[in-house]
Amino acid sequence: MEFRDLKRQYQIHKKEIDHAVQAVMEGAHFISGPQVGQLEKELAAYVGAGHCIACANGTDALQLALMAWEIGAGDVVFVPDFTFFSSGEVVPLVGAVPVFVDIDKDTFNISADSLQNAVEYVLRHTDLKPRAVVAVDLFGQPADYEAVRRVADAYGLLVLEDAAQGFGGMTGERKACSFGDISITSFFPAKPLGCYGDGGAVFTDNEEWAKRLTSLHVHGKGSDKYDNVRIGLNSRLDTLQAAVLIEKLKFFEEEIVACGRVAAAYDERLRDVVKTPVILPGNRSGWAQYTICLKDAREREEVMAQMKADGIPNAVYYRKPMHRQTAFAGMLCGAERCENTEYICDRCLSLPMHPYLEAKEIDAVCSCVKKAVG
Ligand SMILES: *Cc1c(COP(=O)(O)O)cnc(C)c1O
Repeated sequence: MEFRDLKRQYQIHKKEIDHAVQAVMEGAHFISGPQVGQLEKELAAYVGAGHCIACANGTDALQLALMAWEIGAGDVVFVPDFTFFSSGEVVPLVGAVPVFVDIDKDTFNISADSLQNAVEYVLRHTDLKPRAVVAVDLFGQPADYEAVRRVADAYGLLVLEDAAQGFGGMTGERKACSFGDISITSFFPAKPLGCYGDGGAVFTDNEEWAKRLTSLHVHGKGSDKYDNVRIGLNSRLDTLQAAVLIEKLKFFEEEIVACGRVAAAYDERLRDVVKTPVILPGNRSGWAQYTICLKDAREREEVMAQMKADGIPNAVYYRKPMHRQTAFAGMLCGAERCENTEYICDRCLSLPMHPYLEAKEIDAVCSCVKKAVG
């Protein structure tokens, strides 16, 4: 059993993908080939955003967004304490200060109340300027953008949607990557929409920012890449990755629906024995992860030991709150105690989740968890 089965996916779609890859080889337009522009159009249409700029990875996409907003020294960016390192890493990278904010215990997403407390703290106790909030669609479920927006609007914060895990997720009729002032995703192979290497994209409805992002991701280009009007990055999505993504986008919806079926099967068998994921009414998860919570750290160790014995892959996303990462030591502007994050870090466990998981594999996972906690 695989945690996320990219081999099975390739075997099923081998013919189209091979054909698309071969076409790139034959065209030999490896950087900025026509597939890149085509993919950007298709992605923008899929999420319902005005503009899409493909780039080298999700981390660059986050950095590009902060650069487009000219966020830097003296600025604060609020980031959930429970997320992948990148969501916070890019903040000091542009010279700004990250302030970590607690999450909601049910959804694992940023808590709007904690955000408000953190903003108030910064305003009262520092000379720093609150500029933006990174809202992460963790494990596939969109953050509560209505609540985040309310706080952001009250304090003039820009909203950056980190949908690296959220691609394919929805709230109401709207798709992930349409909720931020700028939104980003990642095409890292294990993400909901993955390519065959690194890849990412930035989305926005704002024409001015889109122009800036287009420039920033190719050395701050002006009229061409030898006319440089700002300091930028070399952060393009290469043509091979674009070609793979064009093919994968064709069956992406089908895969999300299949993941939803896997999640429902897990829910039914596990909801009486562990805390299963809470997807709020009106939300659809893209199921980057199916993450349960155990009673305590000891119970998690027991479940993991049983899974190891039974040969069932699993992962702990995430064991450590962001504010306790060594890399952030000495640059923290501490506001809140992130109690929910601490609680979840000790108890969370992600189970195998992908569209090709078979009934007997789901059975094996559920039996194993039940055996360990029963
Ligand atoms: C994976 C991930 C990123 C970074 O994406 P890369 O393409 O690996 O750089 C950013 N934020 C979150 C929440 C992620 O899970």
